[in-house]
Amino acid sequence: MPSAIDPSHSQQENDEYWMAKALELACAAEAESEIPVGAIIVLDGEIIGQGFNSPIHTCDPTAHAEIQAIRDACKNVNNYRLPDATLYVTLEPCSMCAGAIVHSRIARVVYGATEPKSGVVESQQQFFQNSFLNHHVESHGGVLAEQASTQLSNFFQYRREQKKRLKQQAKARNNDAE
Ligand SMILES: [Zn+2]
Repeated sequence: MPSAIDPSHSQQENDEYWMAKALELACAAEAESEIPVGAIIVLDGEIIGQGFNSPIHTCDPTAHAEIQAIRDACKNVNNYRLPDATLYVTLEPCSMCAGAIVHSRIARVVYGATEPKSGVVESQQQFFQNSFLNHHVESHGGVLAEQASTQLSNFFQYRREQKKRLKQQAKARNNDAE
């Protein structure tokens, strides 16, 4: 039996258990040179859907980890809504994903690192607090945040170094040609 559904475990322990799974999916995104973000959807102590960020490979700007996980879960449970489900995502959701979370009627969102530029749960907005929304989503951030943000900053640092290397190589080639 997975330890996550041990009733003696606190919600914090359960949240960290599932977030660790979402972080594994973020690694899968990174392996494809996509920004490392992973998401899973849990219902009654079971994973019903999962996904990772893949807009470049799928040529689909909507292929964020949350959207991929929602599509997967809806297909698996054969329902266009996911009441009582919890979505775990390694990074604070953007406006598109926050909208999709409301449409899918997910009950609770747990995320890792904050996203100061485009996050709308606490950074740019408190989207889920909007009074016009017909569905209330509970949200909780900062779960395994350090691991998630280290993974992201390592990725961006690697990408910057890679760009620098390519630039230097191109320059060396140009010098050779002269
Ligand atoms: Zn998003």
